[in-house]
Amino acid sequence: MDKIVEVTGGDGGNAFLILGREKAALLDCGMAYCADKLISNIKQRLNKLTLDYIFISHSHYDHIGAIPYLKQEWPNCKVFGAEHAKKILERPNALKAIRGLSNNAAIIYNSGDLQEYQDELLKVDIIIADGDITDLGGVTIKVIATPGHTQCSLAFLVNNETLFASETTGYMSESGKVYAAFITSSSAALASIHKCQELNPKFIISPHFGLLNKQATQDYWINCSLAIQETKNFIIDLSGQGYNEEQILAEYEKEFRDQTSKNQQPIDAFRLNVSNMIKVVRNENNDSQYRLT
Ligand SMILES: [Zn+2]
Repeated sequence: MDKIVEVTGGDGGNAFLILGREKAALLDCGMAYCADKLISNIKQRLNKLTLDYIFISHSHYDHIGAIPYLKQEWPNCKVFGAEHAKKILERPNALKAIRGLSNNAAIIYNSGDLQEYQDELLKVDIIIADGDITDLGGVTIKVIATPGHTQCSLAFLVNNETLFASETTGYMSESGKVYAAFITSSSAALASIHKCQELNPKFIISPHFGLLNKQATQDYWINCSLAIQETKNFIIDLSGQGYNEEQILAEYEKEFRDQTSKNQQPIDAFRLNVSNMIKVVRNENNDSQYRLT
């Protein structure tokens, strides 16, 4: 584990530096407003290495917002991401949305205005896919495709023992509860959870949380699956009672937005994600009812 160092620059998104003998890679970056602190944390740990690679778990602003600043600091560093993430970051609307959410987060976390950045720097340079392995010199990073949070979600297995679980599996709160985060498909998310479970990692790093303790590691996969079931039941139940999407969102927020979520996720991003989960559950539920008749 001494080859893995947390270098997170502030609330809202985590970043981990993986140090090999020859190369260094960053797994996710965190939000744009954290870039200065992130860069200084990385510099303190690089020693004689430079930052060679940035692996992104998916294309959401809280995981990749700091990329343009990292590229300014280390121009030769390459961003590795899924093919779908590359496509998303080529869309002007997506870049605009990321900029908007990044600006909002800078205000919410009291960091003042964002430093200027060029959208062209926010891109995937090299496409990676399931099973790809990158060797940093005695330390390997294996890509595990885990769709369900987004189509482009990737988990990363370091040295065959430490899994950076993607947000598809859910995210652990300070309270120990795991929350679901399937934005594109609950069945794909469940399949991704089972895929990660079969890897049987010794250590798990949960998104927006960090390294799990021994007990939480043992319980993680079952808790991730239960979180999906709990969220689905909650939405299906309220839908059955005639609640519309907006009303379900309000109830969901009361029930599932705890203090950690308030600290870690701005309200606009929380609502955007939950609205999508509600749509997914209602669509999947309609489909299954249709198939039964
Ligand atoms: Zn996300």
